[in-house]
Amino acid sequence: MSATPEEIAERKMRFVYTIRSRGVTDPRVLAAMEKIDRGEFVRGLFAERAYEDMPLPINCGQTISQPSVVALMTQALEVGPRDKVLELGTGSGYQAAVLSVLARRVYTVERHRRLQQEAQQVFNRLGLSNITCIRADGSHGLPEQAPFDRIIVTAAAEDPPGPLLAQLRIGGIMVVPVGQSDTVQSLIRVLRTEAGFEYEELCPVRFVPMVEGLGED
Ligand code: SAH
Repeated sequence: MSATPEEIAERKMRFVYTIRSRGVTDPRVLAAMEKIDRGEFVRGLFAERAYEDMPLPINCGQTISQPSVVALMTQALEVGPRDKVLELGTGSGYQAAVLSVLARRVYTVERHRRLQQEAQQVFNRLGLSNITCIRADGSHGLPEQAPFDRIIVTAAAEDPPGPLLAQLRIGGIMVVPVGQSDTVQSLIRVLRTEAGFEYEELCPVRFVPMVEGLGED
């Protein structure tokens, strides 16, 4: 039972409208959100809810983030076309796909092999060839590709991980949810300057926890 072209256009319009109404105004971000079909990243029972503004379950007990949160984080990251971006927490691959429209290259790191493989398949299918998807413990960052112009963390940590801060270039921006995993966390934007790090609190969010080590599956 596939949707008609009219239904697809209508749901795309509503999807972008909702994101705008949550405060995302950057036209490049809105265009990227319109371009990447979230339905490609949600499987099984929940697929029909892919266009609603809510997080949904994915494999390995993880979640695909709420589209308006993906858009707000992407906007806060101020990604430019020459930027090399690191994402910690590939999950479904949706956030990485949105970033890939805006950046030169996206490195995304996931501790679960199954999620990394499934995300890679979607990237291949969509022809998103500027994403490198790696199975690793992202809390150490990706030293061999550092420094990064932008870093986005999509799992909650009690503090921004030191190795990630160290791998942010001067002038670079990192967006990271900070706080305990069972409570509401704060989305923090970090700017690295010559003098050190400047922190700005953006909004409350809720992410699954950052976990050290590789996942079993
Ligand atoms: N950005 C994702 C949602 C992320 S959910 C999306 O767009 O769908 C958070 C993800 O972070 C989960 O898949 C979880 O397995 C992963 N994760 C948690 N701790 C990690 C770590 N230390 N290294 C790599 N990935 C991690």
